[in-house]
Amino acid sequence: MTKFPDLGLSRPLIAALEAKNYTVPTPIQAQAIPPVLAGRDLLGIAQTGTGKTAAFMLPSLDRLIAASTGRPTPRRARMLVLAPTRELAAQIAESARTYAAGQHISVGVIFGGVPNNKSIREVSRGLDVLVATPGRLLDLVDQRQLDLSALEILVLDEADQMLDLGFVHALKRIVKLIPTGRQTLFFSATMPKTIRQLADAYCRNPVEIAVTPVAKTADRIGQTVTHVNQAEKQALLTRVLGDQPVGRALVFSRTKHGADKIVRFLEAAGISAGAIHGNKSQGQRERALAAFRDGSMPVLVATDIAARGIDIPGVELVVNFDLPDVPEQYVHRIGRTARAGAEGRAIAFCSPDERINLRDIEKLVRMKIADAPLPEGFMATVAEIKRLKPVKKADDNQGVDRFKAGRRADGRRRDQRNDRHGGAKTGHQPKRADGSVPGEARGPVRNPLRSGEPQRHPQRAGGHPGHRPDGARAPFRGRSRGPSRGAGRA
Ligand code: AMP
Repeated sequence: MTKFPDLGLSRPLIAALEAKNYTVPTPIQAQAIPPVLAGRDLLGIAQTGTGKTAAFMLPSLDRLIAASTGRPTPRRARMLVLAPTRELAAQIAESARTYAAGQHISVGVIFGGVPNNKSIREVSRGLDVLVATPGRLLDLVDQRQLDLSALEILVLDEADQMLDLGFVHALKRIVKLIPTGRQTLFFSATMPKTIRQLADAYCRNPVEIAVTPVAKTADRIGQTVTHVNQAEKQALLTRVLGDQPVGRALVFSRTKHGADKIVRFLEAAGISAGAIHGNKSQGQRERALAAFRDGSMPVLVATDIAARGIDIPGVELVVNFDLPDVPEQYVHRIGRTARAGAEGRAIAFCSPDERINLRDIEKLVRMKIADAPLPEGFMATVAEIKRLKPVKKADDNQGVDRFKAGRRADGRRRDQRNDRHGGAKTGHQPKRADGSVPGEARGPVRNPLRSGEPQRHPQRAGGHPGHRPDGARAPFRGRSRGPSRGAGRA
């Protein structure tokens, strides 16, 4: 069996790996480390969870250390890692710092959503390793705060997701700013033609490595699918999460608005949850991830922004509340569980409209996903959940964070009274069983659907939504903050 010292890594790096209890390289590490150490370009087809961060970071650090001439030049970086999302960028930088512990290697990370000055300070003294999202990187280049002309190593991580997120022009610009003689390490979970063309433009005669093709989902994940009507998915989710303790569960929603709605209804049912998606501020995203990681918030509802890259140990259950249109995305999503050798479970909710998506997924993973029936007494749960819903079939709070939603509920009630259309487009913030509005402080978590506690009608459950947790009334916001306008302003 190959061990890390067999791969040619330096002693300090091996010590850092031992400190993390990594003794055996994963397949991508075993295959990638020797050629990268030898200075070759690399084209890696690998999904997250395969250990690819260490596969590119360890040999690169060794090369940077060996070629170091002292302190980096101000406003320059020696190695650049481009990542599609802020969370992944932060995570890669953290890994780099861990592996480089005790060495004279500086690591910095920049991404959007934080003040520009903070990014400028991060790069001002020069860095050995810079991890960045493409947009913020180009901002700093345009402001002449960052110079890429002396770059030695370029890494593109999750290239296919970068293209999905529309970074193609940014990538093409960045490559023109970088010396042609650099070493390039290019990673993508999938390799369609567009990615292959991009890789050809970036790499010179790369060593190609493919590990665990994306079609082969992690064997350790127990996968099931439950057929359910779209309108009843919320009830099913409440049962799945409430019937037995699941530890940490990650729920995937197709849309940002849908993710917020799922959270509001889970909270109304007494299940602590938070959302992470592109409309959330950086602070909200970080807080939600931190609460999920430390276990204080056991359910995280995410759009596909969280499907890849983010490494959250101990996710026991992945729920595909909506089936993705792109079958590969299913594989990325369920890959959030069963990471680094752990067991995991994945449940898909399939509505009649999504049967075609399910067929495509089953074709890709080359197996039939086992059917799990609806839980016993499900229709009673559906009725309970319906009672948690606003009277009107409203989706007006979607896309706003929960605190804002609570305040806006007040505006809406006033709007509704004034609404010429009889409030047809208005709706209410659902409340928890104890009558509080999600976002307020409340007592211990309990699931009324399990305890048999009578469920009060959300609108009559006491406590006017216009009262804020501090007892003050939320300010009147007037008709101009009508729900249909407010909906998209997260
Ligand atoms: P990645 O694919 O880079 O996101 O890594 C997935 C997870 O595997 C991370 O939690 C890593 O810390 C962990 N990991 C990476 N390499 C190893 C290894 N050789 N042995 C055990 N765990 C590892």
